[in-house]
Amino acid sequence: MTREEYADLLLPGVTHNTDYYEKLYPERELPEEAIVTRYAPSPTGFIHIGALYSAFISNKMANQTGGVFFLRIEDTDQKRSVDDGVNKIIEDLEKFNIKFDEGVTKDGDKGKYGPYTQSSRKEIYWAYAKKLIIEDKAYPCFCTEEECTHDKELQEKYKERIGYYGRWAKCRKLNMEDVIKKVNNGEKYIIRLKSTGDFNKRFKFKDCIKGKSELPENDMDIPIIKSDGLPTYHFAHAVDDHLMHTTHIIRGDEWFSSIPIHTELFVKLGFKVPKYAHISPLMIDDNGSKRKLSKRKDKEAAISFYHEQGIPNEAVMLYLETVANSNFEIWLEQNKDKDPNEFKLDFKKMSTGGTLFDYNKLINISKNYISKLKASDVYDLALNHANIYDKDFANLLIKYKDYSTKVFNIEREQKKPRKDISCFSDIKNQMWYMYDELFNPESYEWQNVNDKNEIELILNTYFNEYYNVNDDKDNWFKHMQECAEKLGYAGNMKDYKENPNNYKGSITDISMVIRVALTSKSMTPDLYDIICLLGTDRIKERIKKALQF
Ligand code: GLU
Repeated sequence: MTREEYADLLLPGVTHNTDYYEKLYPERELPEEAIVTRYAPSPTGFIHIGALYSAFISNKMANQTGGVFFLRIEDTDQKRSVDDGVNKIIEDLEKFNIKFDEGVTKDGDKGKYGPYTQSSRKEIYWAYAKKLIIEDKAYPCFCTEEECTHDKELQEKYKERIGYYGRWAKCRKLNMEDVIKKVNNGEKYIIRLKSTGDFNKRFKFKDCIKGKSELPENDMDIPIIKSDGLPTYHFAHAVDDHLMHTTHIIRGDEWFSSIPIHTELFVKLGFKVPKYAHISPLMIDDNGSKRKLSKRKDKEAAISFYHEQGIPNEAVMLYLETVANSNFEIWLEQNKDKDPNEFKLDFKKMSTGGTLFDYNKLINISKNYISKLKASDVYDLALNHANIYDKDFANLLIKYKDYSTKVFNIEREQKKPRKDISCFSDIKNQMWYMYDELFNPESYEWQNVNDKNEIELILNTYFNEYYNVNDDKDNWFKHMQECAEKLGYAGNMKDYKENPNNYKGSITDISMVIRVALTSKSMTPDLYDIICLLGTDRIKERIKKALQF
């Protein structure tokens, strides 16, 4: 039996050889510096914030170099696939403005290097695995799971490295006849790489982020084709990224230690080794010790969390960009009028250790971002959020569209806008008192003036004698001052500070009483705007309510 026939016995039914695929997927015609990279999730439907972070970096790196960013679905571990997982991933990433030039889309594949879903590429993997078998760089392994578990126990007992290598790689020693006999007997097998590495030698390489690195060479005969006929991650990565002409493998740091395996695979397959960029994980401070953000333990790990909170996607991205390159914040400060997309990311400026995920910083960025939005945009986003998470509030927003937009416009669309909304789930907490339907205070936050008679006197005097619905802001303030003076309060702070004993208090006490009576809160946006928006009838109602309380 020739080696060709032997390979055909092990992996039957392959119609094309590797030359066919090499021609089918020619080099891309791109400028030399163009980065071709991909996002390669399993279709679990779940996106970890760390995965979003790495997708963002990959997308931006490809865009800023005039390269290509594509989506490949890695579904060779069929247990991890969920229905509609792919669409969910695409939709979720779109929300964060992460768009692919090529690859899997909601309407099938786009691009010349497909199929982009690994389970549809079985023939291709088999063609390359066959080539390795023909060249004696791969072999079938008949060891059962029980045998492997048994060997693992022995390795643990003898304190040897765990794995299929050296003297533990039993099937490596089988000759062609042994194999043919076993196959004809119907014994099940997988295909393993025949590693020629030496664990005692150092493998030196350069990672775009981590810089010069070294690890022991690989000597594991890792599986390349599993018993279900599908490739392992390692093998699929090599074949796909070669045929799809990926220039940079940008991925999570958990794959860093696999570089020796991957390089060996690329070399054995006769492929050019791509560049690697391993992104450090986002970490969390867990009672003083740093650990990776975990899907199981941390709600912040899921991107759905940010949608529930109503943190704008743009704010999340600005935060991730800050994490990616620490000079981004300074750049943003110096280039306020520029589109943040103009900032160029640099692998060399990325952190090489874990980066602490700072939720407070994200919230600050979000506050800043929301403060710069137009009132109508705040309205739209708040409504979108409420439509999903708070139907009652959504109904109020719909019923009072113009009014709500005006409420959101208080101290907005100006040079120094107010920064009180950190996320859209916060809006109701911030502005509930502006809606009569929600205005049921549990308490009133009276400050210096808290005597009922004095409060009543201030409110009645102001509204009966000094409140004028037609007042502009200057006149309104003038009338407030007059009211204060009439009641024995200083009309301005300077007078009050000079002679505090001459007054019952100052104008700020008067405005505080009015503020609290109208809203129950001691801290609100501009009181004049609130008064205008409430209007005379509602003001009267609220005063009545406050005095009854
Ligand atoms: N499917 C792999 C993962 O989800 C992709 C890693 C890579 O980007 O190569 O971790």
